[in-house]
Amino acid sequence: MGVHARFTLFFIRLNQVFMNAFHYKNQELYCEDVAVAELAKEYGTPLWIYSENKFLHEYRELAAAFSECDPVICYSVKANSNLSILKSLNAAGCSFDVVSGGELFRVKKAGADTTRVVFAGVGKTDPEIQDALSQNILMFNVESEAELDAISNVAEQMKTIAPVALRLNPDIDAKTHHKTTTGKKGNKFGMDIERHNALAAKVLADPHLQLRGIHMHLGSPILTTDPYEKAAQKAVDVIAELREKGHDISWINLGGGFGLSYRNKEAPAYSEYAKVIVPYIKQAKCRLALEPGRSIIGNAGVLISEVIFTKREGGKLFIIQDGAMNDLVRPAMYDAFHKLWPVSTKLPVPHDPEAKDIPDCEISDVVGPVCESCDYFAKDRALPELKRGDLLCTFSTGAYGSVMSSNYNSRPRGAEVLIRGNNVQLVRKRENYDDLIAFEIDCLK
Ligand SMILES: *Cc1c(COP(=O)(O)O)cnc(C)c1O
Repeated sequence: MGVHARFTLFFIRLNQVFMNAFHYKNQELYCEDVAVAELAKEYGTPLWIYSENKFLHEYRELAAAFSECDPVICYSVKANSNLSILKSLNAAGCSFDVVSGGELFRVKKAGADTTRVVFAGVGKTDPEIQDALSQNILMFNVESEAELDAISNVAEQMKTIAPVALRLNPDIDAKTHHKTTTGKKGNKFGMDIERHNALAAKVLADPHLQLRGIHMHLGSPILTTDPYEKAAQKAVDVIAELREKGHDISWINLGGGFGLSYRNKEAPAYSEYAKVIVPYIKQAKCRLALEPGRSIIGNAGVLISEVIFTKREGGKLFIIQDGAMNDLVRPAMYDAFHKLWPVSTKLPVPHDPEAKDIPDCEISDVVGPVCESCDYFAKDRALPELKRGDLLCTFSTGAYGSVMSSNYNSRPRGAEVLIRGNNVQLVRKRENYDDLIAFEIDCLK
């Protein structure tokens, strides 16, 4: 066997392994080579655990699927902005999509090449624009005429030319939760085609602006490839028109939103998305930018909690554990589904995590200690018997988990650990009570 073949085989094996970064061995949950129960003992709960090999695998799979387009993959920092994760992705060649000055600060700290960074968001302030221009970012995703004017003014003051892409709202229904759809008429995001074309003309006449590309982000998570195909097709048409009018366009940015399998392989493979997108990008002879967040980091993270009490009330079994909506808000905010299973259990994880009739399981609500009825992780879920002190794993919480956590109910945020093989790295300390009041000024002293 040649060196190349052996090398390829090695990566195939590695890939097979890291398709499943969280797995059970001898009835115990592991992250890569590390027993989760050991991590909980060492770092306490609630605890966020990330598999580095898993998110690197996702990044590489995505980059490989689109390799024909020489893509720039701009990981969406808002999905999970832990510095160690950003550094690891940066080292693998990934770039970044930021939506605030704070996120730009983070990617700089992570060592990113800011000339490959894109800046999205509907409310960029002048200081943020100035900062981004001085970092020579790849382009601003512009969401309105007012923003375009602000960018032009700042660029003029700085005697420079700002690279922009106009965010087109293509009015495509991506069939996501109503709180996470962004590419449909009536959202606050982007602009319709008429305004897009009018602003493009304005850019052409402005010496401080340069139109580099077109941007779309349809929503998240998108579980079919069809919306992307429609968006790519639209991009090709719009770019042809823009070029006719004299714009030197070289980028198509199709945003993020790629599906994540929260349940059981319901998300298409990256190659499926690539199959419908790549031909259009090649037809337009453009570079491709993508802004994946969820699909890269979502299944590379879990949240571990400990059962405090169980109680039966109103004909229901409640599992009350030390993870809550202040840690993971997705169920409360988006009615999100997360697979849950004990860390130590004789029972295998069910093939269908929504199945109600699992032997030796009881229908339960998994809730937290926060004083809100919407503080739950799961409702009417078949789960094995759980008692005080047992550990519970909430899966697929790498994306929009820790980043959305708060101190509501004066609950300190949990620790975060990064696992690579058998290597364990604490990447965020657990907060303590003093941290809760660190920014408050005690006026009664
Ligand atoms: C949130 C967001 C993304 C990332 O979406 P995912 O579903 O996490 O892939 C990409 N682009 C923009 C503009 C966003 O707002």
